[in-house]
Amino acid sequence: MTNTTNSRITVTAALPYANGPLHIGHIAGAYLPADIYVRYQRQQQRDIIFMGGSDEHGAAIMLRAKKEGISPQEIIDKYHELNKETFERFGISFDMYHRTSEPIHHQTSQDFFTRLYEKGEFTEQESEQYYDEEFQQFLADRYITGTCPVCGHPEAYGDQCENCGSSLSPTDLINPKSTLSGKTPILKPTKHWYLPLDKYQPWLEEWLLKGKKGIWKPNVYGQCSSWLKAGLQPRAMTRDLDWGVDVPLPNTEGKKLYVWLDAPIGYISATKQWAQDNGKDWELYWKQQPNEADNARLIHFIGKDNIVFHCIIFPAILHTHSEYILPENVPANEFLNLEGRKLSTSRNWAVWLHEYLDELPNKQDELRYALCSIMPETKDSEFTWKDYQAKNNNELVAIFGNFVNRTLVLTQKYFDGLVPTRHDLHPMDEEALQKLQEIPAKVASAVESFNFREALAYMIDLARTGNKYLADTEPWKVIKQDQARVETILNISLQITANLSIISAPFLPFTSQKLQAMLNFQSTDWRDAGRDDLLPARHTLEKPALLFQKIEDDWVDQQVAKLHQDDTTTEEEPTTNLAPMKEEITYEDFVKLDMRVATILTAEKAKKSKKLLKLTLDTGLDQRTVLSGIAQHYEPEDIVGKQVCVLVNLAPRKMMGIESQGMILMAEDADGALVFMQPENSVSNGSGIS
Ligand SMILES: [Zn+2]
Repeated sequence: MTNTTNSRITVTAALPYANGPLHIGHIAGAYLPADIYVRYQRQQQRDIIFMGGSDEHGAAIMLRAKKEGISPQEIIDKYHELNKETFERFGISFDMYHRTSEPIHHQTSQDFFTRLYEKGEFTEQESEQYYDEEFQQFLADRYITGTCPVCGHPEAYGDQCENCGSSLSPTDLINPKSTLSGKTPILKPTKHWYLPLDKYQPWLEEWLLKGKKGIWKPNVYGQCSSWLKAGLQPRAMTRDLDWGVDVPLPNTEGKKLYVWLDAPIGYISATKQWAQDNGKDWELYWKQQPNEADNARLIHFIGKDNIVFHCIIFPAILHTHSEYILPENVPANEFLNLEGRKLSTSRNWAVWLHEYLDELPNKQDELRYALCSIMPETKDSEFTWKDYQAKNNNELVAIFGNFVNRTLVLTQKYFDGLVPTRHDLHPMDEEALQKLQEIPAKVASAVESFNFREALAYMIDLARTGNKYLADTEPWKVIKQDQARVETILNISLQITANLSIISAPFLPFTSQKLQAMLNFQSTDWRDAGRDDLLPARHTLEKPALLFQKIEDDWVDQQVAKLHQDDTTTEEEPTTNLAPMKEEITYEDFVKLDMRVATILTAEKAKKSKKLLKLTLDTGLDQRTVLSGIAQHYEPEDIVGKQVCVLVNLAPRKMMGIESQGMILMAEDADGALVFMQPENSVSNGSGIS
């Protein structure tokens, strides 16, 4: 176990490209989990910094500038300001939100390059690279798209496929196209500096595969492990571009540092700026200390499309530089989908955070709650407005808000807003107090281990405990006979409320503040959580107000309608509806399937079934009966004599009183149309398929 009590913590959240606004997928992926973690650690009084900023380099910026018809500088100014302000409004509490266009960053990343260059780490290599003849430009990274050789995604970029996360080179792409001219590029020689990742492979296997096993989340560890198993390749750390950090070597005009070399270094330059502004020492948060126990703990919050850069390339650079600490953890999240489809910036299928905040400027916590409850921690998850409404109405309003409001209103009504005295305890009281003691530790442990959904569930469980306690003890009935008993009940309810104001703060910072104002109470110290004496008897409360409001169906319908109205997906690009990829299987799993070519000898409708055809097949091995659910797609007489592919070792199944001995392989498109998988040319029955 790492030391979680004393040491400094350096937290970073992925630098968003300053080429567009933020949507809820970005937030659920990196920024909300980072913010919850940081706010919690601050409450624990730990020495923690939270670094972020705009990534203002790379082809993505230039492409956006071209699209909007303004200069790259105007693009980064526009989106840096917008995103910085949006984060602030949403309560993402960066200590520094920096920019990679700042001189301090250019200097810092050039220093890194120079250090590695002087150590002789780079290999200089001339190679053929794609070049757009019309625009007279080499096509780095996002200037080129094509089909991903790994997953078949048709819009993979030259450096990465955002669908499967694979790290790519432009020459890996199938059917490459220039995003400038739309034409197929030519190959032309150019010189670059390569980081020999293959050379660091043994070190990465030791540090990552051995060292992070069981510590990093399985989705992150699994991705890294499959890349390492496939073997790492040298990767160019420079690009032919006219926007970015200059390569600090003579005669390198027109060459810039690779954006993924300079972007993570942006966390370090942000820290330098923060340290300068606040009279701190940045090295304490990034450099190895003489005594290893004094090293800061480095944690990168990112989405899964950034795993390779933060888990392999950046650590390799830090390790090679040799003075820096390495990430202790990279709790990357998977992707968030929206209303049944992948979030898409280009098709405007997204909930844009600044638009949400424009419409609902005081409902940050409602969205924080909904997003945290579905955070894609281990697999992709989905946001729907219906679910947002349900979380708001059934949990925030009905549990949290209801409990707090009843407690405060009853205290006003019976005791003029003064905290009543606690008397002898009943078993129900003891039970509630015990939960009050236990829950903060559970929240804490879940946050420390990056299980934010679980942490949120424990937090709301304290409100649920309070709500149930009031329902069971019924102070509004008891008040008529036994005022002292009600004093005890409301005292305990108020202690629970004060605790809620502390443990909800990382998740619902705005609500926590409102609640503390109503309680006329202040604590930003997690170590107060679990105490049952936070509000002393006779303490005066302020007037209560409702914390949350119910959301009506009409409003939800409007949001969904707006989404569809703004959607720019055209008929020709139905990229959705496809079933997501199934869980990975091993080669051993695959070879268990015995698939053969067979000929359909007879075909007839199965009795009592609209869907099934009863077929007799010649599998080469035997003649057998197979039922296939294709009656609505094929007429029996049309398919006799066709060759098809069959899974022959599937356990027999009885349907409609007939035993089916195998399964015919079909392709089913997103609309449900079925077609046979057939050999291109006739082959003998029984031919194996592999
Ligand atoms: Zn891919």
